[in-house]
Amino acid sequence: METTRQWNTAEVNLDKKYGPQINGEMVEPVNGYINAVNASTGEVLAQIGRGGKEDIDKAVGAARAAFPAWAETPIEERSMLLNKIADALDENQERLKLIESMDTGRAIHEFDLDYKLAINQFRYFAGAILTHYEGESRPVDNGYLITKKEPLGVCAQIIPWNVPMIMASFKLAPALAAGNTLVLKPAEDACISVLEFGKIISEILPNGVVNMVPGIGDEAGQALIDHPDIDKLAFTGSVPVGRLVGKTAGERLLPVTLELGGKAPHIVFPDVDIDTAVENATLGYTFFNGESCILGTRLLVHDDIYDEFTEKLIERAKQIKIGPPTDRSTRLASLINEKQGEKVLNYFDIAREEGAKILYGGNRVTVPGHEHGYFIEPTIIEAEPNMRIAQEEIFGPAATITRWNNVEEVIKMANDVEYGLAAGIMTENMENAFVVANKLEAGSVWINSYFNFQTGAPFGGYKNSGVGREYSKQALNEYSQLKTIVAAYKRPPLGTFL
Ligand code: NAD
Repeated sequence: METTRQWNTAEVNLDKKYGPQINGEMVEPVNGYINAVNASTGEVLAQIGRGGKEDIDKAVGAARAAFPAWAETPIEERSMLLNKIADALDENQERLKLIESMDTGRAIHEFDLDYKLAINQFRYFAGAILTHYEGESRPVDNGYLITKKEPLGVCAQIIPWNVPMIMASFKLAPALAAGNTLVLKPAEDACISVLEFGKIISEILPNGVVNMVPGIGDEAGQALIDHPDIDKLAFTGSVPVGRLVGKTAGERLLPVTLELGGKAPHIVFPDVDIDTAVENATLGYTFFNGESCILGTRLLVHDDIYDEFTEKLIERAKQIKIGPPTDRSTRLASLINEKQGEKVLNYFDIAREEGAKILYGGNRVTVPGHEHGYFIEPTIIEAEPNMRIAQEEIFGPAATITRWNNVEEVIKMANDVEYGLAAGIMTENMENAFVVANKLEAGSVWINSYFNFQTGAPFGGYKNSGVGREYSKQALNEYSQLKTIVAAYKRPPLGTFL
């Protein structure tokens, strides 16, 4: 197992072109290619297929053809194959981390967490599937009742660019474990690591079980959700596209899971040790370059400690090393692209116009040799809870900070937002922690340790943050349907009904 070797960028040896992967083969895309660029240097890393309707047709056809045999594959074998995928991902992780760091611009040290979660997904579902079928079958009067879980069929899966391997594993592992075949559309802004992973998977699974079609959202993505031979839609991304996917699912009566945006409150009680609370809060708003749906970007800090906490938060922000993504000592690196960078900087202007106060940061930073990249300072903004900067998803390394005085008020503030994906609480008092946690409208609540992901813990959103749960046994249900079979030993005697 290779977990310690460090690769350098010249060693990753990328393919020149990454076309759609259909039926176990990489094929030429019908609409040609688009460039995949290094987020911080602008260097062209490779070309990725610009998938279109015809590629999607072929991929869905391959998934449909592979479905009956995969659905009938014994669970012990499916489980073994998922473990093989986990092993292969483990063995290849250092190279894939480096590719992903260049492609997304995120600091390479963060990918240790991404790949730990991704590998765990395959191992978890390899185990979970073995208990998925423990059923509710039972003897009934004059016979026997069987409740069966069956796969749904061909799943359409669409993922975003921010954490490509986490997203791919969250989608692939439960769908495959439950016996589905699939077509995955990775994000056009960062997908090389996922397409490399696709090549690895094609050596392990039967042809057609996993198909990947890269491409642009309103081309390949739209063609995938519109395809008439799809049995399930699974989407992670923004709320507007999530609504579109949900609408399509509604019109066609397809099961759907949606993992959408977030704007998580992180509540700080006055009884905390301020230094460790500041560290946890800083991790909570800066990790993933701030480009994540789960970040604790709305800091709600009790009045009694607000001034000291804020001062220390600013001091901590000043120490964060901004640098090249592939340098292991970097803690904040480049945003994905100019569009995202400008969006974040524009939010800082909006904040100023609204009367919010930028206490620290707010600027783009130049990193020598990486001038193409949008490196943004960690940014702390004193804001009222109803301001746009405190309500909308920024997707950059920025947090608002707001004071509170009583618990009912802070719960209201925390919930007064369209999203409900995650939340954090810091206190020494577990009674306070649980009283507040119970009242927060969020799918995940982390007390005293942000991003405390535990394998098998359901993950998903309240309110506009989504529909359904991943990362847990619940995900197997999202990729299964129930059938009840009732068998009678004897037919009813003549004359029973007539
Ligand atoms: P996005 O919605 O623009 O794109 C996500 C994916 O959808 C991409 O693959 C894109 O190509 C595709 N897409 C775009 N238009 C489409 C269409 N018309 N039909 C089908 N597919 C289409 O989101 P993004 O900018 O890539 O990602 C950022 C968003 O994702 C943020 O809002 C973030 O919060 C959210 N996100 C949520 C989670 C979660 O688990 N809840 C995780 C990561 C990211």
